[in-house]
Amino acid sequence: MIFIPAMNYAATALLGLLFGSFAGLVAYRLPKGEAVMAGRSRCTQCGHALGAADLVPVLSWLRSRGRCRHCGGTVAWRYPLIEIATALLFVLALMAAGPGLKVIMLGLLAVGLVIITAIDLEYQIIPDQISLALAGLGLGYQALADTTFAGWLSAGAGAAAGISIAWLLRALFQRIKGREALGLGDVKFFAVAGLWTGVHGLADFMMFSGLAGILFAAGWQWRGGDAVFPFGPALAAGLYAVVLLKAGGAPQPLSLLMIR
Ligand SMILES: [Zn+2]
Repeated sequence: MIFIPAMNYAATALLGLLFGSFAGLVAYRLPKGEAVMAGRSRCTQCGHALGAADLVPVLSWLRSRGRCRHCGGTVAWRYPLIEIATALLFVLALMAAGPGLKVIMLGLLAVGLVIITAIDLEYQIIPDQISLALAGLGLGYQALADTTFAGWLSAGAGAAAGISIAWLLRALFQRIKGREALGLGDVKFFAVAGLWTGVHGLADFMMFSGLAGILFAAGWQWRGGDAVFPFGPALAAGLYAVVLLKAGGAPQPLSLLMIR
């Protein structure tokens, strides 16, 4: 019985790398207004269309030492980083929920959150398209987790409470700091988070996001960043942590990999 969980994890990590590659592409194209699906991947510097050999997650980057094979221009290290991060998030989802439909939805949530994190770090925006997609996915996840009316009610109430609280926080920060600290994208994200966690999970989401935010802000300032930092990465981390903790499927402990 040693093989099945090990293979599950290997396949999940591999899928995570591939979806991470997609996340990197979306994070690059979406803010520039380029069609996400259209056209082959190209080198951002020489425009050379990239072949299969250039697009193997992580390995292509390592083999070419982070340079384009055609023009020698650097390929940002954030691409392999995004791929590895997505793979890790996929594996965490499998650990939390066990095999099944839930883990697929958690994986898609991870992809959306990685895209949000990458774009918010670079442009200080959370794109509406991704928030909307995650809202739809969150409704589907609730339907899967709790088909009763109470489940839907909790999701709806979570979204309403989330956006209200975020709006208050935004007004409060604006008062204290005299500038916008919580953007409209962040406010909308609170509604998305409320859908995923339900009204009962909202307090946990805010606690985790707050903790992540404090750590992130410290790192941001240590690196000499602006006084106002993007809050999206902390919100994304907080949401993923709460959703995984509540996923409660049939967990697959890693110990299965070692002895059975
Ligand atoms: Zn090139």
